[in-house]
Formats: sequence, C-alpha cells, structure tokens
Amino acid sequence: MLTINNFINGRYVAPVSGQYLDNHAPATGAVSGKIARSGAQDVENAVQAAWAAFPQWSGMLPDERHDILRGIADGILHNLDRLAEAESADSGKTITTARTIDIPRAAQNFKFFATALLHFASESHHRPDALSYTLRQPLGVVGCISPWNLPLYLFTWKIAPALAAGNCVVGKPSEITPHTAALLGDICNAAGMPPGVLNILHGLGPETGAAIVEHPRVKAISFTGSTRAGAEIARVAAPVFKKLSLELGGKNPNLIFADCDYDKMLETTVRSSFNNQGQICLCGSRIYVEKCLYERFKKDFVEQVQNIRVGNPADPDSRLGAVVSKAHFEKVLSYIDLARQEGGTVLCGGHAVEMPGPNQGGWFIAPTVIEGLPTSCRSNQEEIFGPVVTIQPFDDEADALLQANDSPYGLSATIWTNDLNRTHRLASTLQCGIVWVNTWMLRDLRTPFGGVKNSGMGREGGWEALRFFTETKNVTIAL
Ligand code: NAD
Repeated sequence: MLTINNFINGRYVAPVSGQYLDNHAPATGAVSGKIARSGAQDVENAVQAAWAAFPQWSGMLPDERHDILRGIADGILHNLDRLAEAESADSGKTITTARTIDIPRAAQNFKFFATALLHFASESHHRPDALSYTLRQPLGVVGCISPWNLPLYLFTWKIAPALAAGNCVVGKPSEITPHTAALLGDICNAAGMPPGVLNILHGLGPETGAAIVEHPRVKAISFTGSTRAGAEIARVAAPVFKKLSLELGGKNPNLIFADCDYDKMLETTVRSSFNNQGQICLCGSRIYVEKCLYERFKKDFVEQVQNIRVGNPADPDSRLGAVVSKAHFEKVLSYIDLARQEGGTVLCGGHAVEMPGPNQGGWFIAPTVIEGLPTSCRSNQEEIFGPVVTIQPFDDEADALLQANDSPYGLSATIWTNDLNRTHRLASTLQCGIVWVNTWMLRDLRTPFGGVKNSGMGREGGWEALRFFTETKNVTIAL
C-alpha cells in the first residue's frame, strides 16, 4: 500500500494531524493506498517554507532558474514510464494516453516556461521630459490547485509558469489523483531546486484547498476545476483582492458543416468526444451536424464509437479506460438516465461495462451517443464530463451558432468547414475562449488558454501566464 505524504521544504512529511484519506484505483475499485489529509497547520508550514525560499529563488539570475526548470523537464522524461504507470493506475486513463499525452506534456510545460523566462520582457515609454518603464515582479508565494482529469499535465501547467516568474509555490493536486504530483518532489530535488520553492500538499478541497485560498500570505490562486469550486474560491478571494485565475467547466460544441473534409472530421470527432473517457475540459460534448449530412454522420460515427475498445487501462491496446471515481461513475450514469427521461434516444453505449478478472470492480462506461434532445434540456446544458455525447442536426449557419451559444459555458468550440468566410464569421461570434477549425486540441503553448461565461476568468499559456504570476509596477523618471 502506497502512502502519499506532503512535500514541504524539500522533504516528504506526514500531515500534522496524522490523518489519511483512502486512495482508490479506478480500474479495480480497490483501495490502493493512503493520502495525507492536510489541514491549516500543514498549509501554514508550507507557506512559511515558501516565503523563506522566496528571496533566493526570486533573486536568481534567469539563467540559473532556467537550468533548474529544464532539469525538472528532463527528470520527468527520464521517469516517463514510472510516471505514466502511476498516472494510469491513479486515474483509470489508459497507459497509452498517460505515456503519449500526459507525461510528455508535463515535461513540455517545464521546458516551455524555462525557455519563456529567458525572453520575458517588459515595456518602456519615452517622451522628451520623462522615461517610464514597467517592472514585472514575482508576487511572492502563490497557490496552484488542480483537478484529476489530467493530473500531472495540469498541475505542471500552473506551477511551471509560477516558478519561472520567480514565485514560490504551495500546490495542491486533486485528492483523487495525487500520485504523480507526489513523485514530482523527488524530481525537483534531483534537479537542484532549493528547498521550499515548491511545496506539494495533499487533502480535500474544502480543507486543504480552502486553507490555501484563505491564507493571507498566499498572494494569488491559479485554479483549474469545477465551476462550483471556482465560484467558492472567488467568493473567498475577492474581498481580500487576491489575484485569481479560474479555469472551469465546459460543454463544448462541435459544428460540422457538409463541406468539411469528412474522413478527417469523423476520425477527430471520435477522439474529441471520447479521449480520456470524455474527461477533458476541451472534449466536444454537443455535436451539431448540418441537416443534409446528419444521417450519414450518425451512421458512421456510431459505427466507429461501437468499435472503441474499452479495457484494462494497463493494456496498451485499450482505447478507453475507467472513469476516475465511483462518485463520478454514478454521476455519469445518472446523466444517461436523465437523457433518456428527457426524451433522448441512446444510439450506442448507455451502460456500465462489466470487466473480467481483477477489473471486475472497476468503473467502466461504454462510450455513449445520444440523439433527439433539444439544446435547452439539462443533458445539453450541464457538464457531464464523461464518455457521453449528444448529436443533433442544424438547419444553417445561423441556427448552428444559436445552438452553440445557448450554453452557460464558453470554453472551446470546434468548427468543421472549408468555407473561409464562414470560418471567420463563426470564430468571431462563438462565445468561447478557444476555437479550433478543422482540428481539435492542437495546442501551441504560446497561445492564450481559457474560457468565458461559467468556464472561467483569466487566461493561461505563454506571456498571459507569466503576466498573471507577476505584479506590474510603473516607474517614471523625469529627464
Ligand atoms: P473540483 O473543483 O472538484 O476540484 C479541483 C481541485 O480543487 C481539487 O484539487 C480539489 O481538491 C480542489 N477544491 C475543491 N473545492 C475547493 C475549495 N472550496 N477550495 C479550494 N480548493 C478546492 O474539480 P474536479 O472534479 O477535480 O475536476 C473536474 C472539473 O475540472 C470539470 O468541471 C472540468 O471541466 C474542469 N476542468 C477545467 C479545465 C480548464 O482548463 N478549464 C481543465 C480541466 C478540468
């Protein structure tokens, strides 16, 4: 049984209370280990260690910080197999997804921001009587709180820019998938990161997470997770004017026009629907298809979805693994029931998958396609975040846009068309932060990432992230 402890001041330490939570393996449903259940005193210890490390870390030359962050990127790649196995076992995602997407991207996050910090610059403004320049200074100690769907990928997506900008970090991965974040401590030590620069705490959101958000010496919170928790964090942080970046839920539309490259669209739409069991905030869960293409698409899409192999996540041939927890498994199945009650027709899937042998108790759900639901119903308005998509026809571009924007969320949208004018019209009028055209999840880490409406506030990625993790100060000198 694995015991996961906090990483504070460069060392693994037990929680002050001595209490632990159970960690479960989604592929078997069994308890796989225990996780530190941290409280306010653990957060206090981490914040103190982080502030003690801040003068040294923020005072380093960019080159020195670069070398350490690059060393962490290399350390992650050096441990690729071990991290991928831990990620797959902890989250239920397939080993192939962990090995080819999650862990390489975690390394890439460090590599990208290690390089970005070397090029980060600020403005100066000149006039005959004065010179003004802008300082961009690290905030001090910041909190980074991440979810379970892309555990190390999203944890590092926050802490890498925070560290690159010269801050020290108190981080909290999801209590549902803590393993890879815990392994990161050793990798940071091996890369020569000074103790206290990165501290990793484990525990429940309303306990550990809330204590980080409430702590007066934590200067900013970068949060990715549910809209519900994001709203709670905003409620606590707003009255003390704490800087906030909130990356929240999504219910993303895919708009498929008859003039698209059909084969590429079909293959990508299967991926954008069911990658990582549909548990990616960017998955397209509402699929709108131009009426004249609808029946053809429906037949081909359902046929391909029925061929997706659901299996043991540790098997490299499995394309879909388990969903992350029992609670989430039950939530997703309850939404499939709701869709039926709302008049939807389940075209394929719609049930749990019974697995043989050791995976018998695991939380597997067949990829599910539903049709016949209006955009206004709960199944199309609320985030399900599992292997479930709805398909519906649209009449024309105006109808497609209306249905796509009829959502409380606004994270991303995907358009499939070869009409250039339509592409630009829709890209500018879709209410979301990210638009993909004839592709999905093609990520350039320099681009701004985030959503509008209930999908959050602020942007991650590139300079946006480094600006978030710094405070600007203007200096004006009379000449
Ligand atoms: P969650 O909100 O339950 O938890 C996310 C993290 O916040 C966890 O570490 C949790 O412990 C912590 N937390 C929970 N309540 C808290 C509180 N009151 N104070 C401080 N911390 C708290 O979300 P989840 O179920 O882990 O993740 C799934 C959600 O994340 C989905 O809604 C998904 O769309 C969203 N998500 C968004 C993005 C994005 O970039 N927009 C990316 C991935 C996931």
